[in-house]
Amino acid sequence: MRLVLLGPPGSGKGTQATRLKEKLGIAHISTGDMLRAEIAAGTELGKQAKTVMDAGNLVSDDILLGMLESRLTQADVAKGFILDGYPRNVAQANAMDGLLAKIGQPLDAVVQLDVATELLVERIAGRAKEQGRADDTPEAVRQRLQVYNDQTAPVVDFYAGRGTLARVDGVGELDEIEARILAAIKG
Ligand code: AMP
Repeated sequence: MRLVLLGPPGSGKGTQATRLKEKLGIAHISTGDMLRAEIAAGTELGKQAKTVMDAGNLVSDDILLGMLESRLTQADVAKGFILDGYPRNVAQANAMDGLLAKIGQPLDAVVQLDVATELLVERIAGRAKEQGRADDTPEAVRQRLQVYNDQTAPVVDFYAGRGTLARVDGVGELDEIEARILAAIKG
């Protein structure tokens, strides 16, 4: 199963991706986690990315495509993967298409987690208290939501236009949401 999980910041992509990884025995690829690991390791890429991320903006498409390409060559990906945080704009969706075609691993499903904006702000505020993410400040959250609306929402339309998109209600108990996603990708 090769799956993309789409949704605004705070929609629960990371939480559900972690569950699906266990359930389906596939790799969880979170580009946000990969970037945070680069920052933690103090790499040059991490230094470049940090300022952009802390402001709630998108890191460059070239950097992301390079990261994705090298991640997709790792052995655990052979059983399938769930992508969480990529693609963030239509250019990334097109670039990934080319990459997946090249390696002969096209997507099986794209799932959009729908959550109302008021709830997103509440959830991110809760997470900020627990995890202290540098980009969970009120200004950065506002910017991330703006970037989502401007750049990532068109990705949903991109997949909807191809008929590969399933929309799932992202509000409710975690088990329920997981069951909805599983039903959507089996359907
Ligand atoms: P996330 O953990 O998915 O919310 O990502 C945190 C931050 O990492 C985002 O706000 C972006 O700054 C950056 N990031 C993660 N994935 C991407 C991507 N596909 N393209 C550009 N920037 C990204």
